[in-house]
Amino acid sequence: MLVLILPGPPVLAGWLGETRDMMGTEVSVFLWSEDPQVGEQALAAVFDEAARIDRLMSTYKDDSEISRINRLAANTPVQVGEELSQLIQRSLDISILTLGAFDITYDSVGQHYDFRSRRRPDSMTVESERGNIDYRFVELDKAAGTIAFAQQGVRINLGGIAKGYVVERGVDILRRHGVENAIVTAGGDSRLLGDRRGRPWMVGIRDPRNDGQVAISVPLVDEAISTSGDYERYFDEDGIRYHHIIQPRTGQPASGVQSATVIGPDAVITDALSTSVFVMGVKDGLTLIATLPDYDSIVIDSESRVYYSDGLQQPTAEDFD
Ligand code: ADP
Ligand code: MG
Repeated sequence: MLVLILPGPPVLAGWLGETRDMMGTEVSVFLWSEDPQVGEQALAAVFDEAARIDRLMSTYKDDSEISRINRLAANTPVQVGEELSQLIQRSLDISILTLGAFDITYDSVGQHYDFRSRRRPDSMTVESERGNIDYRFVELDKAAGTIAFAQQGVRINLGGIAKGYVVERGVDILRRHGVENAIVTAGGDSRLLGDRRGRPWMVGIRDPRNDGQVAISVPLVDEAISTSGDYERYFDEDGIRYHHIIQPRTGQPASGVQSATVIGPDAVITDALSTSVFVMGVKDGLTLIATLPDYDSIVIDSESRVYYSDGLQQPTAEDFD
């Protein structure tokens, strides 16, 4: 019997992409692959990883590691896995860097918001829960592999850093699949791998007050970009916008900024810093960014004025002295 071995259909290199509703937002992956089968595998692996991280870190899932910590850590030290422990440690480091603007214990107040049903804490609740916000209440014991909270009422939530972690991990996975050009996005956080095959990626920063419009477009290669806005999760009541970014000092939604964008090499850091710059406001936020050579920022204030960090300014004559 004659067996004909025919070559399979030609393998076509090209762009592949997919978007899924996850983590209360959209996660999307867009990549160039030389082999569509490998490309599809890489896509699926990134979504699997996002789902795994969400199972670990979501406060909406009662059986997540973070929910278990929140239930128990005020009573007794709780075992914490290496991965979560490391991300909590990075969060605490960023709290120190931002003088407390970034604080994962914001959730003692944050838990009382439900933006879909327009629920917010009354002023008495804010007053009492505010006293539970302080990152120094979080005690990580690395030798013992445990976490404990210094007082009852303390809660943590990694919502300001977990999506950056997802996209950073996502890009790592793509690299391991041999992908060289990609963009991974989770909500307001994107991590770019390489360029768009000979051209930079163009990443749009939304116009905070015109839905669906882009305010500023930034060309980027091999970088991370995160935007925090007061238009992601919010409701308006009596002329006040109640949104999801909490000023730890007051326990109220941070005011003065409509959106804060941070650009830099690591999406975990850009995610946490965009939330931080939003809380700190234009002046203090840009002063902080000026101390971080690899990071830049674009802030849109409550009057819709746009501010750029030094690294994004036009060079002036002084720069050539
Ligand atoms: P998005 O979730 O839209 O990407 P951010 O990266 O700015 O936006 O994260 C906002 C989230 O960060 C909130 O939904 C909340 O979970 C958390 N958060 C709010 N205030 C703070 C804060 N002061 N420090 C750390 N995390 C915060
Ligand atoms: Mg953020």
